[in-house]
Amino acid sequence: MNMQTIKADIAIIGSGVGGSAVAHQLVGSGAKVLILERGDFLPKEPQNSDAEAVFLQARYKTRDTWTDAEGKSYRPGQYYYVGGHTKFYGTAMFRFRESDFREAVIGSESSPEWPISYEDLAPFYAKAEAIYGVRGQAGLDPTDPPREAFPHAPIPHEPVIARLAARLAAQGLHPFHMPSAIDYGGACVRCGTCDAFPCSIDAKGDAEIRVLRPLLKHSDLRLERRTEVTRLIADGPRIVAAEVRRDGEQLRVEARTFVLSAGAINSALILLRSACEAAPEGLANRSGVVGRHLMNHHLTGLMGVHPLRRNETKFPKTLSVNDFYHGLSDDPDARGNMQMLGNIRGEMIRSAYPATPRIVADWLGRHSVDVLAMSEDLPNPESRVRLRGDSVEIDYRPGGLPAHERFVAHVRGVLQRAGFPLVLRHRFGIEAPSHQCGTVRMGTDPRSSALDALCRAHDHPNLYVVDAGFFPSSAALNPALTIAAQALRVGAHLRTI
Ligand SMILES: Cc1cc2nc3c(=O)[nH]c(=O)nc-3n(C[C@H](O)[C@H](O)[C@H](O)COP(=O)(O)OP(=O)(O)OC[C@H]3O[C@@H](n4cnc5c(N)ncnc54)[C@H](O)[C@@H]3O)c2cc1C
Repeated sequence: MNMQTIKADIAIIGSGVGGSAVAHQLVGSGAKVLILERGDFLPKEPQNSDAEAVFLQARYKTRDTWTDAEGKSYRPGQYYYVGGHTKFYGTAMFRFRESDFREAVIGSESSPEWPISYEDLAPFYAKAEAIYGVRGQAGLDPTDPPREAFPHAPIPHEPVIARLAARLAAQGLHPFHMPSAIDYGGACVRCGTCDAFPCSIDAKGDAEIRVLRPLLKHSDLRLERRTEVTRLIADGPRIVAAEVRRDGEQLRVEARTFVLSAGAINSALILLRSACEAAPEGLANRSGVVGRHLMNHHLTGLMGVHPLRRNETKFPKTLSVNDFYHGLSDDPDARGNMQMLGNIRGEMIRSAYPATPRIVADWLGRHSVDVLAMSEDLPNPESRVRLRGDSVEIDYRPGGLPAHERFVAHVRGVLQRAGFPLVLRHRFGIEAPSHQCGTVRMGTDPRSSALDALCRAHDHPNLYVVDAGFFPSSAALNPALTIAAQALRVGAHLRTI
């Protein structure tokens, strides 16, 4: 039987932040660019903003199942749509700090140096902020790297958040406006369903709306939806084709260059699944690092509850604090970022704790101010994504957790001093791998990394990986802007070859 073959100059696998940024750089260069995306456009429907549908019925989550290291199977918090995870993201668009690119020792573990510096990424951070329409205010965050003004003024705090900012400042902290990619003052109507919901009015600066939609008008870009890449095929060091499944049919895609951007976990899986006689451990895997060093940040949600005060805030994600980014004064290993979470709603509480009565969950949702404490997850080679036959095993081993716990205890005290007598906590685990990274790490040494500083596979001259799999370390800030910046940098390079 003859398999249908699609040909392109550059094939990009995945239409999330990474894949769409590379397309942005290449469309118009004369190259025929093809994006292969396993998902479809996310439908616009009333359920987009229905917390019951999004959280309790998990309407948009993949139906795939993975297993943990004990063999327990679960439905991961993975979302497969054009635009990738940004369809659900919280729009926090941070640059990593200069120190995040350097080696650091935290307790008995270490955070490796990147093969690039902040200066290498700075012009691409600026470009990514312009594309995504990021709002913020430079000069308030004491850890800010050198930078120019944000493309747009920050989103103002609503009253409850402004009060919290004042109470944090009274403690000697330096709260600042969280950089955010929302069309505030334009399409945004502050509907109150943003972080973890899809936006049905296109006000969220996601990869589909801000990057792909404008590009799709160009005849040199072709987007194939519902098209899942199962494996890549190498002939010698070169990747010659991708095997693809679309609506039950098998296709072959041939291109001169392949850019893998299926998300840190899925990109590693595609490389592992592509094992062949010449590369029995998988493609790009001479070093054995593919699928290892899986990180996800330590993410602890803290609900500051005040029984007498209702919180009517619609969009709380306007405030962040980085005073502890380089450690507490008496405990330098306990460190991280503090930022507002989206509104925690009763439905979210019940989806994590099903035994909670609806009335209690709804009351907590209405009377809390919700903060995320985020610390760096340190890379561990035994923290792995594996294939077990046809099934996927996530054997996640977080690094640096005790120091995160001490940081959380400190943030809890900050919230109590800010006027919240009761602070509840919830740790987000790997079952929702929202900040997944590290599984196809870049580095200068082909013996300990899969990719070079331009995200090109050491083993394959025409294969690049531009999702968060390339991160050597996770830093302690949201990943999307750094993925976009490095992918824009890679795209600029691809334009020249
Ligand atoms: C609820 C939530 C909130 C978040 N909030 C923030 C935030 O505020 N700020 C921030 O910086 N980050 C946030 N994140 C994380 C951020 O969204 C991700 O880091 C980022 O979107 C990852 O981009 P990516 O391009 O690496 O991968 P993805 O977004 O995962 O894109 C990969 C794409 O590849 C497709 N794909 C997968 N496998 C295949 C295959 N085999 N064949 C073809 N296509 C495939 C997928 O469908 C997807 O479209 C959040 C994530 C979640 C889930």
